[in-house]
Amino acid sequence: MNLINDVWIPAHRKNGEKIKITPWQITEDIGTDREIVELAAVRPDFNGALIQFLIGLLQTTCAPKGNSDWRNWLNNPPSADELKKKFEPVSFAFNLDGDGPRFMQDFYLEKDDKKTSKDIGKLLIDAPGEQALKKNTDFFIKRDRIKKVCIHCCSQALLTLQINAPAGGKGQRVGLRGGGPVNTIIMGENVWQTAWNNVLADSEFDRFANVAKTTEPDKFPWCGQTRTSERDKATMTQDVHPVQVYWSMPRRIRLNFMGQTNTCDLCREKRQIVKAYWTKPYGVKYEGFKHPITPTYKNKDGLSLSAHQHEPIGYKYWMGYVQNTDDGHEPAKTITNAYSRRLQKFRLWAFGYDMDNMKACCWYEGVMPVIFIDNETQWKHYNSEITMLIQASDTVSDYLSKAVVKALNSSLFNAVRQRFWRETEPEFYRQIALLRDEIVACKDGLSIRQAWHKYLVGNAQNIFDDMSQSDLIDQINAERVAKAYNELRKCIYSKKLKVEILGLPKKKEGNA
Ligand SMILES: [Zn+2]
Repeated sequence: MNLINDVWIPAHRKNGEKIKITPWQITEDIGTDREIVELAAVRPDFNGALIQFLIGLLQTTCAPKGNSDWRNWLNNPPSADELKKKFEPVSFAFNLDGDGPRFMQDFYLEKDDKKTSKDIGKLLIDAPGEQALKKNTDFFIKRDRIKKVCIHCCSQALLTLQINAPAGGKGQRVGLRGGGPVNTIIMGENVWQTAWNNVLADSEFDRFANVAKTTEPDKFPWCGQTRTSERDKATMTQDVHPVQVYWSMPRRIRLNFMGQTNTCDLCREKRQIVKAYWTKPYGVKYEGFKHPITPTYKNKDGLSLSAHQHEPIGYKYWMGYVQNTDDGHEPAKTITNAYSRRLQKFRLWAFGYDMDNMKACCWYEGVMPVIFIDNETQWKHYNSEITMLIQASDTVSDYLSKAVVKALNSSLFNAVRQRFWRETEPEFYRQIALLRDEIVACKDGLSIRQAWHKYLVGNAQNIFDDMSQSDLIDQINAERVAKAYNELRKCIYSKKLKVEILGLPKKKEGNA
């Protein structure tokens, strides 16, 4: 199977039809009810990997010279035939099976007598639950129950593992950005736009590694001898071509094809299946890489590292995923680039695992509406206003969680926080849309901050009431609840919140 020329990517057409496509078919039937509007893999982490496959393929074969080239294709997408021609020169590197180089698989492993064989289920990153906002179903079947996987699903599992590889014991290397990084994707109206929105111009992309490294294995590490990492030998940005950030191979894996056809335990479709793969430790040990679609933060030594997700994705992450923060969080290059491309309004699709070292604890996924303002002074003002709103939420969520914990003598801290962020989210997006209009009309945003304070106060009180009444409360507990409630009120009307964080006038009658 060839991942350029054969159909294997599950997708939905606008009319709801579920199909499998080749990568170049993403521009077929655009503008009709048959256009390809979303990826439709059996697991949400596979969808996250597939969009990176498409972005990476476009970045590798069709990178625009500059923003006008980029805009030209956004408005007038190339035909599927044109795309096919662009992808053809690299198709040799995208065979899943056969005797030659195989996509994301170690070239020499099959003949290595120190390899070990593993059940195919082990190729899947095991995540016990998922928190996808859109689809609230449990997509993750325990991997122990997966015994046979079809070649379509196998491609997706292999891709997902190489991109996200968690720590896995001695010599089991993590992904190029660490285990299960966060990804922020600028969404479009269809799969083509979503992929193309995240492709950078050459001049921007070239900085991610070394453009002077132009051989096939510099781009596709499986096309030659693997840069293995015995004795901790690292592979740095100067060692590889920039496109390798999309085609990384931290794990040495070779699929063991037995030529059997059966029903796939993941997608339930019948085709050629794989039951086992070979592996060996000490794959490529990537160090010091950044990635175009991953936000970064600074560690205590001032080193910029890829961000990882450890709680549900929501508007709290506007800071860091959309704008810089004072403590060193920076959005992905594609996001800052969208500003210079004057994308005014888009949805940001953010996702990633919550990895606890070797274990995936959870999968988080969310969509944030983003609005840019063209005028740079206004854009800065807009962001500083949004920072105040989010800091206010953060402070109130802290006050509220502490109050509930005190009132109920319980350990509900995180549950209260998450409920608060989730429930205030729709109003936040409503307010920042209004805020945009205020800033563009050269107003100061004060009325939005006042409205936001009022809203947060009301919401915090509601959640407190709801949670403190849900228990059977005796006399002593009732006193504790009353005390905690009074403290909460004091905090949410405090000078710290109103004046220092939200910049509201000191006296109520001042400017209300
Ligand atoms: Zn399958």
